[in-house]
Amino acid sequence: MLALLKTASGPGLQLQDVPDPTIGINDVLIRVHRTGICGTDLHIEAWDAWAQKTIQPPRIVGHEFVGEIVETGANVEDFTKGDLVSGEGHVVCGRCRHCLAGRRHLCARSIGLGVGRDGAFAEFVALPMTNVWHHWPGVDEDVAAIFDPFGNAVHTALAFPTLGEDVLISGAGPIGLMATAVARHTGARHVVVSEPNATRRDLAMRMGATLAIEPRERALPEVFAELDMVEGFDVAMEMSGNAQALRDAISAMAHGGGVAILGLPTEEIALDVNQVVMKMLTLRGIYGREMYETWYQMTVLLQSGLDISAVITHRFGFREHEAAFAAARSGDSGKVIMDWTA
Ligand code: NAD
Ligand code: ZN
Repeated sequence: MLALLKTASGPGLQLQDVPDPTIGINDVLIRVHRTGICGTDLHIEAWDAWAQKTIQPPRIVGHEFVGEIVETGANVEDFTKGDLVSGEGHVVCGRCRHCLAGRRHLCARSIGLGVGRDGAFAEFVALPMTNVWHHWPGVDEDVAAIFDPFGNAVHTALAFPTLGEDVLISGAGPIGLMATAVARHTGARHVVVSEPNATRRDLAMRMGATLAIEPRERALPEVFAELDMVEGFDVAMEMSGNAQALRDAISAMAHGGGVAILGLPTEEIALDVNQVVMKMLTLRGIYGREMYETWYQMTVLLQSGLDISAVITHRFGFREHEAAFAAARSGDSGKVIMDWTA
């Protein structure tokens, strides 16, 4: 099969012919239809400090995908040839305290698809059956391809109740954009998006933001009067990884507010803990998706009319992977899809 892989230490990825993956009795083999490019893939392609300490080449990258089942192991009964599926990108140990208690997203020994095991930027990918999610017939395959980051957005957006609340989203990357649509769909009063990039602020308005502000030009409290807000935000979603964005969010919270933190900073962040204490804020870290409650929630949110398709701004055939990665890296993009069937 053809696959996009890191062949050796150093920047870049190679499209190469490699052996098809083999499956065990509890696994399924999936013919990949479409994939989404994640920031993780960009880190691996660029071979930054994180990639250097994490990735052992040769490694097929990629973890956001949709495809169809083409082969099933002897123990697999829930999946049959032709089923349209995506995969949860964290393969958990199954034996730790949390896994045994059904809290698989808390497994400390999980292995990442396209990071610690061969990934989905290929014509075929193999996964344990316990990592596979059925789509319903008629799902938009571009949207199905990005269930992984959509799940990050849903996991964060549902961390605190948003019905009728005033919500701040810091960072309108693909995940912040999808969280904007989810917060709107789940009944937030105002969704204020803070994002330095003008293209992404426009996308945020298309995804349902009340207001999209440039944080270097406008301080968050300046919007309160305009939006009839009394005290500050009830819920914040930190989706930039930027230190100042987190500090600004904490300063702009109302008493009793909840701050869901998904963004991954590259360095330690100094915070005014007095504000956290005096306002009685709840700060909550969000990682990945809940297995499989978030997957269920994504499915029913879409079936109840949520539309996230505007987050997809670019589509390429897999042979144009360099252009696809350039578009994802540019910042002037939402999600970038690669088609593996063309
Ligand atoms: P992205 O890098 O595309 O988006 C981040 C956005 O934040 C960019 O548009 C950037 O312009 C904006 N930004 C920078 N400084 C800002 C500031 N001061 N205020 C407001 N916005 C600012 O990333 P993404 O793919 O959308 O992911 C969002 C974040 O979540 C990243 O930090 C990523 O590493 C992290 N992430 C976490 C998980 C998890 O499981 N916790 C999973 C995926 C991604
Ligand atoms: Zn475990």
